[in-house]
Amino acid sequence: MEAERGEVEQPLRMVGGDGEHSYALNSWHQSKAIINAKTILESAIEDMYKALLPLQSFTVVDLGCSSGPNTLLVVSQVLNIISELHTKFSDKAPLPEIQFFLNDLPRNDFNSVFQSLENFKKKTEEEKGDLLPPYYIAGVPGSFHGRLFPSSTVHFFHSSYSLTWLSQAPSLQGIPPNRGNIYISKTSPPEILKAYREQFQSDFSRFLESRYEELSGEGRMVLTLIGQNHVDDDLLIYTRELLSEALNSMAIEGIISKEKLDAFNLPLYAPLLEEMKSIILSESSFFHLEQCYRTRHHTRREDDCKRHACSG
Ligand code: SAH
Repeated sequence: MEAERGEVEQPLRMVGGDGEHSYALNSWHQSKAIINAKTILESAIEDMYKALLPLQSFTVVDLGCSSGPNTLLVVSQVLNIISELHTKFSDKAPLPEIQFFLNDLPRNDFNSVFQSLENFKKKTEEEKGDLLPPYYIAGVPGSFHGRLFPSSTVHFFHSSYSLTWLSQAPSLQGIPPNRGNIYISKTSPPEILKAYREQFQSDFSRFLESRYEELSGEGRMVLTLIGQNHVDDDLLIYTRELLSEALNSMAIEGIISKEKLDAFNLPLYAPLLEEMKSIILSESSFFHLEQCYRTRHHTRREDDCKRHACSG
């Protein structure tokens, strides 16, 4: 993947299909994050459902859906929640219809997602029978850092593990090079951290402004992303150390130039909880923050990688 300034969204994609290195087979801890956020999802959808009753059709969007089991895990959770809410609050009315839009960047393996829909439909029909709300699924290629939907048309936005991706690596013009590093690290000049923070702030604000336009009144949003307690304490540490080692070895062997490596910075950022809150609150004329919290647990590997998720 190229990750130069302004060139992230065009080439970025997770490995498609279901081979050994595919995202589908290597997204276990992301699936745990979706499962862990279920109670938040339930309460946000319940609030939306009650506020919008007697509305009979809902538009639900997953931003950064990728491909593989996690994509449809979100769909299946939302179907279950709405089915249960219907039984609880509006049993006599017909089941509401749900339009799902699955969004990711254009190079995402949407084909795999679409091909898995037939089996998914069979499975959901078998599991839920008459309690299954009628639903329709469509893919929406494009960047969530800008507008994706017409104004006031979406009732619910969900996104898990995607907002960590910046729209571009931060601008490092006029600041000392991040020598030997590909992200913020202990040996990075302080300006690097500031540049990353500013890029995240600008991207996340743009994200919130776009969603505000697209959400209908009483709409809700649940966002889960990798966060950190302090610099050098986040789930990205393991991945970026491996990647950094590999790139440094390639530079030593002359496969890539030292200058190119020094100029390369990962277009990822794991914010502090306080940072997230303060950006959301600075957009408070747009959004009301209902819940924002951090969870932590070990990954499958018995190492010290930690995950922090913030949902709001
Ligand atoms: N939500 C899934 C996938 C997370 S991986 C899960 O929980 O398993 C992150 C996904 O975000 C990738 O598929 C990546 O392509 C997508 N992504 C990154 N930047 C994006 C952007 N600007 N717009 C839309 N999708 C983006």
